[in-house]
Amino acid sequence: MDLITSETLFTRAGHRIPGGVNSPVRAFKGMGRAPMFVSRARGPYLFDVEGKRYIDYVGSWGPMITGHADPDVLGAVRDRLEDGLSFGTPTAVETDMAELICEIMPSIDMVRMVNSGTEATMSAVRLARGYTGRDKVVKFEGNYHGHVDSLLVKAGSGALTHGEPSSPGVPASLAEHTVTLSYNDIEGVRECFREIGDQVACVIVEPVAGNMNCIPPVPGFLKCLREVCDESGAVLIFDEVMTGFRVALGGAQAHYSITPDLTCLGKIVGGGMPVGAFGGKRHIMEYLSPLGPVYQAGTLSGNPLAMAAGIALLKKIRQPDFHKRLSERVNTLCDGLEQRARAAGVSLLTHRVGGMFGIFFTDQTEVNDFAAATGCDVERFRRFFTAMLDRGVYMAPSPFEAGFMSSVHEDEDINATLDAAEAVFATLT
Ligand code: PLP
Repeated sequence: MDLITSETLFTRAGHRIPGGVNSPVRAFKGMGRAPMFVSRARGPYLFDVEGKRYIDYVGSWGPMITGHADPDVLGAVRDRLEDGLSFGTPTAVETDMAELICEIMPSIDMVRMVNSGTEATMSAVRLARGYTGRDKVVKFEGNYHGHVDSLLVKAGSGALTHGEPSSPGVPASLAEHTVTLSYNDIEGVRECFREIGDQVACVIVEPVAGNMNCIPPVPGFLKCLREVCDESGAVLIFDEVMTGFRVALGGAQAHYSITPDLTCLGKIVGGGMPVGAFGGKRHIMEYLSPLGPVYQAGTLSGNPLAMAAGIALLKKIRQPDFHKRLSERVNTLCDGLEQRARAAGVSLLTHRVGGMFGIFFTDQTEVNDFAAATGCDVERFRRFFTAMLDRGVYMAPSPFEAGFMSSVHEDEDINATLDAAEAVFATLT
């Protein structure tokens, strides 16, 4: 009988699934090896089809903040399962979820549930355009908002640079409405708004950038966005798909005390089920169909099982000190990595915000934007990633992704990670 391995499964998948994966980053392209195929997960661990265990710092790209197969989340899903999977009618559990989100994030007066982070950002941008009657969208280089056509735009840095499609298939006539600015460039933002502020429908931003490694906002950056939006009448959208409920219970908006007009959510809000949401000020949300003229819909939106999973997780992470303990774990990991790298003569910088972190192989003392993030040593990261994976530690398979801690990564897991890193650093010089 043929042995089932990750390699053989990846080869088989490649015949029928483009690249063998249903989301590109899972292919480990650029990491020089095939991905592991996971068969199950529990707590801070993944187990591959060959039975190997990994300490997991990806957490399904963010949702698994209390670890995999959380018994409370699984129990909530099990409790609802026998009542049916989907009704296509309103259910009480959707209002339970909406009330909970509005309680946790006071900037949100009303919220609509969708099925992914991409749907949340796509719908929020449409709503902002419909509400303002304007077309232009301002986004930031290196920020990712899902695979929405008008947000899949890369542009040269600097104010007023009009977009070029970064993916074939995005019409240039659509991309030209997207203006891409440099992240953390306060003067660039002000200059852009001096020139075209009256045409801008919205500014969409990752309030902590988590898709070019992990880059926090410099002091004054988010405040500047709030100010230019207030002055110009543009809608300020915080894409908190990653940061929501992770950098603080109330998200980056609570952590930095800046109030957006609209917020996009995903990942944790679904407890591991396919869920997104967008919400915000009542007078804007009332523009949505069926109250208002901006159309938005979803056959499976507000799915009862998904709502049950998300509610169970949100209730669990509302415990006092949950996020304080989570960030203490992140600090233990990042301090330990920096110390061991220094001892081995490897230049390494870490960033941490609440339950997320970034590791940069660089001599730079600051990494605040896309240019600095892409200037880090990608080859050294690749060697680090593969050697850590061999030792049973799964970091994000790209130098441009953030890391995620869970509340069930215990000291022994973090110490084992640091021991592995020490051994790997010794091979990197
Ligand atoms: N926005 C941000 C900040 C994200 O990190 C992601 C996904 O990683 C998305 C939007 C898109 O979410 P989804 O993959 O659920 O469509």
